[in-house]
Amino acid sequence: MTILYAADPAESEAWIGSLRALDPKLDFATWPDWGDPDKVDFIIVGGRSPGDLSIFKNARAIQSTWAGVNHLLKSKFPPGVPIARMVDQGLSANMVEYLVYWVLDALRQGRELRAAQREGKWIDLPLRWARDFPVGILGLGTLGVATAEKLVGLGFPVSGWSRTAKTVAGVRAFHGAGQLGDFLAPLKLMICLLPLTNDTEGILDAKLFAGLTDGAILVNAGRGGHTNDADLLAALDSGKLAYALLDVFREEPLPPDHVFWRRKDIVITPHVAAITRAGTGAEDILENYRRALAGKPLLNPVDPSRGY
Ligand code: NAP
Repeated sequence: MTILYAADPAESEAWIGSLRALDPKLDFATWPDWGDPDKVDFIIVGGRSPGDLSIFKNARAIQSTWAGVNHLLKSKFPPGVPIARMVDQGLSANMVEYLVYWVLDALRQGRELRAAQREGKWIDLPLRWARDFPVGILGLGTLGVATAEKLVGLGFPVSGWSRTAKTVAGVRAFHGAGQLGDFLAPLKLMICLLPLTNDTEGILDAKLFAGLTDGAILVNAGRGGHTNDADLLAALDSGKLAYALLDVFREEPLPPDHVFWRRKDIVITPHVAAITRAGTGAEDILENYRRALAGKPLLNPVDPSRGY
């Protein structure tokens, strides 16, 4: 019985160390030195798609150490193998901090203040209230709800948009394509926290931007594939969007000659919003390993047919 760790060597070392600390008897192999593929009974995958996993016919489950599994779902799997993604308290806390930080920066006009200081200007900015600054979150899942709840606590009017209907205390919840327009209309700042699927690929496009109020701010912490890059640049050029804050890109690392680096109206963070920690995530992985061996349903299952 072998757990195969299919990820970068540095990443595998930390996770295997944390898992062994919980159960020293676990036996690991690391990609691509898996030995006899028939002995692999559980596969852990990191931030890159390992490719063909279908040769591991006896694998009882595939476990992602990432919350987003769009890369993983490009792999080939043994038929019917259950897949789980990572839901980790550390990751959620990081995402909430990241987004609250940038929402507060937007409310308090951090970009204007920093620009004024660079020019030695003492400017007079009217103070704004959170209650007059509606924030919307595309994606009311684990991370979207955690962020929404914190923003509600700070006094922002918060709305969220999901595929199916949701009820979250203090949050105006919208769902489905039919309610997207009503969700977008009042927003001063919109956050994307969707998974990347066939339905959400390129969703941040001209049509969606047109539904926002003029001068709205975009924050994309979902995936780079959500952004239609050309439509984003056009929306910035026209003033439809005041600025965009991007943590995720179609190509990562963002190539040095990419036009985004040269834009004053794009703030770039290098996919640092949130990570899973081997320490806190290992317990859930071990639980899923035990569940997989016992034929029980996994924690945080992925539905490959819907793509998340
Ligand atoms: P999650 O719990 O699966 O939530 C996904 C949300 O998106 C759900 O509310 C879902 O609707 C909604 N959704 C999915 N497809 C939709 C569609 N076609 N139309 C409308 N809503 C749709 O995921 P999560 O844990 O919150 O993570 C969300 C994403 O954050 C990840 O997939 C990843 O892309 C990104 N992420 C980024 C970082 C970073 O460092 N930048 C770190 C971690 C995660 P239902 O509720 O109806 O299912």
